[in-house]
Amino acid sequence: MSLVDCPVTYLEGDRYRGRFAPSPSGNLHFGSLCTSLASYLRAKQNNGQWLLRIDDIDTPRIVPGSAQNIQNTLLAHGLVWDEDVFLQSEQIPRYRDVLSWLESQQKVYRCNCSRKAIRALGTNYTGVCRDKRDVTAPYAIRFKNDLAITEFEDVVQGMVSIDQNVASEDFVLWRRDDLVAYHLAAALDDIEQGITEIVRGADLIQPSACQLNLFRLFSIPSPKYLHIPVAESKKGFKLSKQNHAIELNNQNARDNLFYALRFIGAAPPIELRTASVDELIQWGISHWRVQMLASSTAILLSEIIDNKEYIDSIS
Ligand SMILES: [Zn+2]
Repeated sequence: MSLVDCPVTYLEGDRYRGRFAPSPSGNLHFGSLCTSLASYLRAKQNNGQWLLRIDDIDTPRIVPGSAQNIQNTLLAHGLVWDEDVFLQSEQIPRYRDVLSWLESQQKVYRCNCSRKAIRALGTNYTGVCRDKRDVTAPYAIRFKNDLAITEFEDVVQGMVSIDQNVASEDFVLWRRDDLVAYHLAAALDDIEQGITEIVRGADLIQPSACQLNLFRLFSIPSPKYLHIPVAESKKGFKLSKQNHAIELNNQNARDNLFYALRFIGAAPPIELRTASVDELIQWGISHWRVQMLASSTAILLSEIIDNKEYIDSIS
């Protein structure tokens, strides 16, 4: 495909740039602290920059005040970002330009299948609207995913395989409620911000394949991916907003950081129990190594934290 007039541009730099990109649908929990900590340490160890992006495009899920709470929580834990906070809600015209260009290149199509109709097809969307004309509103806009990405190399997990049905699905780029879809916004902003490595939870491995697909579409070198295990309070029950994980208590920032260092595989000495937030962060920069991360997709909190009272306070 020719990239003539493509509005997606990329300024190649030689510096490590990482990011943390929470959605403001609630405050951070212990699992998100582990991800942001690993991402921050990686950036600082590589003399790089660490950016904060607020993924505030899914407007029905936004909780008022949580964007500010997230920033307060990061600061309380010594995780200070470089550059101004990047708000996805301010990027909508750019996303729309890219969507128009994709339409002009016939890389997308309209789909007005209801959720119920898609469920009736099986687990994944099979492209039934690809050749339809005159699709009536409301419709979603789907990507013609002709180049299914079925595997990719992850810094921690090694070669990761993606289920063929998931990998080949024509995923949504623009939602039927006229909001930009997560994959398109995330990929475009990682390009715009020149992100070189993405550190996030292993529950996002499959979405990464969709985003890699978009990097390839725009002929842009893909960032490295580093998926860290998600924290589980019990088997198959990850800490998440959906599972009502308890928000981090900033008054316990030192305990939170101590245990988050353990969760990402470091072995902070017992003397660090009384260290300050800054000392804990500095210790992490000097002592944690990416090789210490477990190459599994989930870890039970009780396997690494021998303090039941603490576990109960975060899950
Ligand atoms: Zn359809």
